[in-house]
Amino acid sequence: MRIAVLGGKGGVGKTVLSIALASELGAVLVDADVTEPDTPAYLNLERERDVTEVRARYAVRTDGCAGCERCLEVCPWRAVDDPIACDGCGACAIACPEDAIELRETELGRIAESREPELGLRVVHPETEPWAPELADIVHRMIPEDEDCVIDCPAGLGCPVIAALSAADAAVLVTSPDPAALHDYRRAEALTREFGLPAVRVLNRAGSDEREGFDVVIPEDERVLRAALDRDPGGLVHALREPARRVAELLPDGG
Ligand code: SF4
Ligand code: SF4
Repeated sequence: MRIAVLGGKGGVGKTVLSIALASELGAVLVDADVTEPDTPAYLNLERERDVTEVRARYAVRTDGCAGCERCLEVCPWRAVDDPIACDGCGACAIACPEDAIELRETELGRIAESREPELGLRVVHPETEPWAPELADIVHRMIPEDEDCVIDCPAGLGCPVIAALSAADAAVLVTSPDPAALHDYRRAEALTREFGLPAVRVLNRAGSDEREGFDVVIPEDERVLRAALDRDPGGLVHALREPARRVAELLPDGG
């Protein structure tokens, strides 16, 4: 089973719960945050192999350019000749009357597979430049084909999250109780519904009277913060074992 862990807002506890859940299920952990992966900050990863490289296309004007600026007009970001802003869609090349746009490729890093020795966990994670594109294709290539996995989605509801949901069999929706997080959580919940996925709803860092509408409630726990600060994966998983087990039980077929 492939499980996408999402919530909309960052900093609500998606990554630590993903680690605990992958450990509980014996599944591969996929860090789908292409530009700002979180898992290396919590785990002691030993790199084992390259999974794939990350390449990006960008558009440049060549000598045949007549200076009409049609290419800049069709690009929402006016990103011709700017490899960082360009997402390689190719619209400018189609629009150019002189056939003077060239789409070049550059390597922006790799996707690696590492092992967390204490947890016995396999982790697929990006090692890319910070300006690597947040492309669905990269996330799709990170997800193992025939293995159970937990996909730790980045904040927001952009392409990587859509890619994760399109590949997933179930979702875990995570939020903290603050209004901004709950607002983003509801949008994530609506998106998950659009994909028709069964979902487990988790309220993290909850106060004692907060529960309504959630399947699993995780109270504020100093041990989680301490383990995260100390980069203590064993302590982290131990502190979250009970909620991770409860989430696993609520997933279709127990995860
Ligand atoms: S559309 Fe073609 S000819 Fe016009 S400015 Fe761009 S590259 Fe040059
Ligand atoms: S390839 Fe797409 S994003 Fe890049 S400059 Fe051309 S139109 Fe803009």
